[in-house]
Amino acid sequence: MAKERTLAIIKPDAVGRGLTGEILKRIHEAGFQVIATKSMRLSKAEAEGFYAVHRQRPFFADLTDFMSSGKVVVLALEAENAIAKWRDTMGATDPAQAAPGTIRKEFGVNIQNNCTHGSDAPDTAAFELSFFFPSHDLL
Ligand code: GDP
Repeated sequence: MAKERTLAIIKPDAVGRGLTGEILKRIHEAGFQVIATKSMRLSKAEAEGFYAVHRQRPFFADLTDFMSSGKVVVLALEAENAIAKWRDTMGATDPAQAAPGTIRKEFGVNIQNNCTHGSDAPDTAAFELSFFFPSHDLL
């Protein structure tokens, strides 16, 4: 299978609890190559733009408040089957439902403060990678 790329975010709850190193270790152990990375704080408007697909969801305001509440670490990851592989490494959205050994199961606080983001399909991965990284950072 050809290499694929996905967008990962270490969310403010995880960065704030000092989990960045642990999550990066898991990314490397899972066999991903890190193509690009940045540490930043999203504005509320940037968080709303990134999660625009969720604008109609009841938790949109809470989610975008949370995502703009502190520093995040954004990563472009590459691997075979990277999109599904990263979602498997993260675990289910709700930590209580996530499989043992996954990041969300081990470190997630609740369905919102669940440590990490991962693209869910090739079209969203393309949008999300371009949202954070100019194309020359992804060469
Ligand atoms: P993901 O693809 O596994 O991240 O899940 P979704 O695309 O469904 O949701 C995006 C993000 O919104 C999740 O990762 C959570 O941070 C948050 N979220 C999802 N469901 C809920 C919810 O019911 N309540 C709140 N407050 N946040 C949620």
